Amino acid sequence: MTQRNIWIMGNWKTNPVMTQDASNLAQQLAGAVSKQTVQHKQMMIAPGVIHASTVATHCSEQLWLMGQDCCAYTQTQGAYTGDISAAQLAELGAKAVLVGHSERRQYHQESSELLTQKIKHVTASGMLAVLCVGESLSEREAKTHFDVVAQQITSVLQSVTLTAAQIVIAYEPVWAIGTGRTASPEQAQEVHAAIRVLLAKFDTEIAEKTQILYGGSMNPKNASALLSMSDIDGGLIGGASLKADDFLTICQAA
Ligand code: PEP
Repeated sequence: MTQRNIWIMGNWKTNPVMTQDASNLAQQLAGAVSKQTVQHKQMMIAPGVIHASTVATHCSEQLWLMGQDCCAYTQTQGAYTGDISAAQLAELGAKAVLVGHSERRQYHQESSELLTQKIKHVTASGMLAVLCVGESLSEREAKTHFDVVAQQITSVLQSVTLTAAQIVIAYEPVWAIGTGRTASPEQAQEVHAAIRVLLAKFDTEIAEKTQILYGGSMNPKNASALLSMSDIDGGLIGGASLKADDFLTICQAA
C-alpha cells in the first residue's frame, strides 16, 4: 500500500490587508519549519497575489508557496486584465495552484471547461493543480453529494490526462467552508474513499498516489480526528491558517 505524506495548505484568501502582516505570518511559519517543530509534513501557503512576492522570500522546500487561482486564457502572457498567469506564479516560485475553489465557482461562475483550461496551464508550468470539489448544503440534504463530487472530478479528468504528481483533490463541502460546521471524520472519509474509487477508473496509480485533502472549518480541535482517517491525506485550511499557532497545531496534529 502506498504511504502518502500529510499535506497541509493554508488558503489566505483576501487576508490580511497589510503586506507586513502577511510577511509576519509567513515568517512565523518559516521559523517553525526551520526549528523542525513540524516534521514529515508538507506545508503550503497561498497568500493573495499582492503579497506573494514578499511571502515568497520566507518560503522553502518545507514551506511551499501556492497560488489561489490563475488565468484560464493563457499559460504565459497576454491581454487579460486583472488575471495572473500560471507562468507568472511559477516564476514567483509557486509549486501549486488552487483551481475551482467554491468561492471562485460561486462568485465567478467558473465552469468545468474553464477549470480544465486552468489545470492545463498550471501543469504545463510545472506546478501541481489542487482541484477543489464539494457539494452545497442542499445537495448534501438531497443525498446527491457523491454524484456532485464525481461529476466535478470526471468533467475535468476526462478532458486532460494527468499523473498523481500533477493533481491534488481537495474535498471541501461548501456547507463547511467558513461556517464552523465541519464534516465528521466519517462523513469526510466516505467521500474521500469514493473519490479514490472514482480515480481508479481513470488510472490505478493516480488512485493510489493522489493526495486527497479535506477542507471546511478544519481547526486545531478537529484536525487530529479528521487527519487520522485512512483516505484523508491532509487539509486545506482557510480561517485557521491566518493564525500561525492554529495552523502549526493543525500541522502537528496529523
Ligand atoms: C477554504 O476556504 O478552503 C476553507 C476550508 O476555509 P475554512 O477553513 O475557513 O472553512
